[in-house]
Amino acid sequence: MTIASCFACGEFKVGAFTPCPACGNAPATLEQEAQSLALTDHYLAPEELEHVRQQAAVGQPIHIDPVFYEQLLQTLRDERTARANRPWWKFW
Ligand SMILES: [Zn+2]
Repeated sequence: MTIASCFACGEFKVGAFTPCPACGNAPATLEQEAQSLALTDHYLAPEELEHVRQQAAVGQPIHIDPVFYEQLLQTLRDERTARANRPWWKFW
C-alpha cells in the first residue's frame, strides 16, 4: 500500500495516482504524475510526508528536488515509450 500526499492540496491518500479524497484532484499530466510519485512513502519518510502536508495546508509550494523530479519524469516517459512500442501480439 502506498501512502501519498496529494500534489494539489497535500492531503494524505492511498496510491500515488488515485483521486484525492479531500480535493478530488488526480494527476492528469506526466508532470503531475512525477510530482505525485515524489510525494509517496516510497521516497519520503513519514515525517517528511507530514511536513509536505502541513506546508501545502498553509499554501506553501511543495518542494521537490529538481534533479530527483527530472529522474521521475524520465522514468515515466520511458515507461510510456515502452508501452507504446509493445508489439501488437503482446496485447493478446
Ligand atoms: Zn488534494
